[in-house]
Amino acid sequence: MMSEQDSFIEKVLIPHEEIQQKVRELGEQITRDYQGKDLRVVGILRGAFIFMADLIRNIKLPLSVDFMSISSYGGNVESSGVVRILKDLDKPITGVDVLIVEDIVDTGLTLKHLLEVLSTRNPASLRVCALLDKKERRLVPDLKIDYVGFEIPNLFVVGYGLDFAEKYRNYPFIFVLRPEYYQPEFTR
Ligand code: 5GP
Ligand code: MG
Ligand code: MG
Repeated sequence: MMSEQDSFIEKVLIPHEEIQQKVRELGEQITRDYQGKDLRVVGILRGAFIFMADLIRNIKLPLSVDFMSISSYGGNVESSGVVRILKDLDKPITGVDVLIVEDIVDTGLTLKHLLEVLSTRNPASLRVCALLDKKERRLVPDLKIDYVGFEIPNLFVVGYGLDFAEKYRNYPFIFVLRPEYYQPEFTR
């Protein structure tokens, strides 16, 4: 999985096999919880797209999907909490059971804003599934994440959909970059 040319890898935090096992468990749990419901899985682009693709293939229900693209103002690593909708949902969610799929919840500011926006549209229910949770960084108290893959320490991680400067999303495991790769000359 790792090779010598992957010199940018400081450490693999979650190997692919562990992710796949967790995604299967989450899929089974969601399948049980949404029996007989009209489930719409909403992926938050771009970070959640790999996780979402794997997750929905483990949900054994006739669900539908939609996507939203949001961007927080500010730098590459820190969240500012000011969220801009770059692409809204294609379909209305009134009366629909909505499950938001996120890559990672850090401060929680992005998710809080998203939940506020979507709840004004009166979905039948609104829940969140996040692959990663950096709980110790949370700035929003009482933020409920209904389904969590892994709680991780306060490290900036990439891979399995998560990027730094739009790179590394394609690697099938979650890892920490070598410090020199966070330098501005690598953010092109
Ligand atoms: P929050 O608003 O919860 O602080 O930040 C959420 C967003 O910040 C995530 O959806 C993700 O885009 C980005 N983010 C937070 N922590 C990390 C991280 O460790 N790695 C990467 N690649 N993005 C992160
Ligand atoms: Mg995200
Ligand atoms: Mg990003």
